[in-house]
Amino acid sequence: MAKIRLFIDHPLAQGQGVALTPDQAHYLGSVMRQGPGDALLVFNGRDGEWLARIERLAKRGGDLVSLRQSAPQRNPPDLWLLFAPIKKARTDFIVEKAAEMGAARIVPVQTDHTNSERIRQDRLQAHAIEAAEQCGGTFVPEVAELTPLGRLLDGWDPARRILWADEALAGPAATLAALPRGPWAILIGPEGGWSESERARLGALAHVTRVSLGPRILRADTAAVASLALWQAALGDWG
Ligand code: SAH
Repeated sequence: MAKIRLFIDHPLAQGQGVALTPDQAHYLGSVMRQGPGDALLVFNGRDGEWLARIERLAKRGGDLVSLRQSAPQRNPPDLWLLFAPIKKARTDFIVEKAAEMGAARIVPVQTDHTNSERIRQDRLQAHAIEAAEQCGGTFVPEVAELTPLGRLLDGWDPARRILWADEALAGPAATLAALPRGPWAILIGPEGGWSESERARLGALAHVTRVSLGPRILRADTAAVASLALWQAALGDWG
């Protein structure tokens, strides 16, 4: 039984040849000790999961052929995660967990108290891909570039509601089941929390629902996972 799962940015169909990148060839050959004739599972985020066979493998490239679909494409509900990046390892953790928890899109936002001014979008995207490879998913959430919160709210489509986790509300946790279904975004603040001007702006928007995540103040990475779990259980695909 093939165990290796690889994300491949290439169309997949019966008998489709797939060229490997140097990184993928290195991973399969040198890291996983695979060779021609060996089987693996591949997915591209659109066409489901496919059983594939290695046709040729060299140091800097190689070819696969996709044989048959082994699982259908499964997309998460239309839920985005908006979060303020924190320290590198914890930001990596948030992206990995958001991909596992079924976020459809991940948007790092710059807030008044954001500790990090820069992110490596390509590294974060690679973490989302790795998470999908590990957890058996066929979908990879896109990681956006860092966007200032104000600009994000200026261009926001109010049809997508925002679930705003505000630590000032810490107390009995929100029950989300009564909220409307449809497109949502969860918004998690940085370790420094929300500023008063952010609270004023977010609090005035009709498409924003302010929620508590329970009586304890959670670190931002914990808050991201907890809110994704609450949302998936009440309004998403856990039910
Ligand atoms: N420095 C702040 C805590 C920030 S926690 C303080 O000491 O008050 C980081 C983020 O996690 C918050 O901005 C919020 O979005 C979320 N969060 C953590 N605990 C929460 C809670 N109990 N209820 C709602 N949101 C919470």
